[in-house]
Amino acid sequence: MIPAAFEYRSPETLEEALAILDQAGEEAKVLTGGHSLIPAMKLRLATPAIVIDLRRITALRGIAADGGGVRIGALATHAEVERSELVRERCPILAEAAGRIGDVQVRNRGTLCGSICHADPAADYPAALLALDAEVLIASRRGDRVEPLDGFLRGLLSTSLEVDELVRAVRVPRAAPASAAYVKMSQSASGFAIAGVAAQLWMKRGVIERAAIGVTGIADRAFRAADAELAISGKAIGAAMLETAVRNLAGARELLSDIHASADYRRHLADVLGRRAVAAAAARASY
Ligand SMILES: Cc1cc2nc3c(=O)[nH]c(=O)nc-3n(C[C@H](O)[C@H](O)[C@H](O)COP(=O)(O)OP(=O)(O)OC[C@H]3O[C@@H](n4cnc5c(N)ncnc54)[C@H](O)[C@@H]3O)c2cc1C
Repeated sequence: MIPAAFEYRSPETLEEALAILDQAGEEAKVLTGGHSLIPAMKLRLATPAIVIDLRRITALRGIAADGGGVRIGALATHAEVERSELVRERCPILAEAAGRIGDVQVRNRGTLCGSICHADPAADYPAALLALDAEVLIASRRGDRVEPLDGFLRGLLSTSLEVDELVRAVRVPRAAPASAAYVKMSQSASGFAIAGVAAQLWMKRGVIERAAIGVTGIADRAFRAADAELAISGKAIGAAMLETAVRNLAGARELLSDIHASADYRRHLADVLGRRAVAAAAARASY
């Protein structure tokens, strides 16, 4: 499988990249890790006339503190997110999700920002990032804008990005406690999530004061399970409570159904994984 011919551009500055993107519009595709774009090009599902490789742009590298939160640059790989001391300290659930992606090769090349731009409904990060209220920092020649991830993800392989825009970073706005867990059922060949649930809890003496639950893999885009979050808030952790409060995470959404799992199975999985994620998160709380 060989991609259609394309022009390869490798700018050294963000300004240069934005100028190429501005001029090329729909003809161009940005490349970071290449672990979704290149397979799509080989299958001719994507046939960009111009590929803009961002990897020489040093300003897009790295993971840094941003106020009390964390900023993850467009070129930060899954492996860097997994190993980052800052991420482990301020949003450990993100490091956990990164460590569950694909295999070592994928984690060494793929990027967090590339993953959210690709908007695969089976991607792992969105569950954790939604639970952390993450924001997307977007650049274009027209200026910068910031959008919550929830608004950025629009559906199957679809985001709010305009053709002249690229993602420069993702920001987790504030630190979150260690009482968090990401649990998934993987598709065995690729590792992609058939269902994945991220639970971020804020706890005091065994009681859940506040909860954020992100769900991925089961619908055309990841989402927050707001009803379950409310149902477990103010409750002491325990098996009976989880059984009654963490249910119907999918709500009335239309669910994915494919060769890997039916919609009904995904609905069931989300509830089972939801209970496991909340229980695992609570077990990590320090009182
Ligand atoms: C074998 C295999 C197994 C995998 N398993 C998993 C898994 O278990 N879980 C999981 O979540 N993912 C999995 N993935 C996907 C992987 O995580 C990809 O790395 C990720 O989805 C895309 O990141 P990338 O940096 O490789 O992006 P690229 O492939 O470079 O780009 C992907 C898309 O996003 C666009 N894009 C990239 N960066 C930007 C940017 N900064 N601004 C604007 N647009 C941008 C590109 O134009 C392209 O359309 C797997 C991939 C493979 C090949």
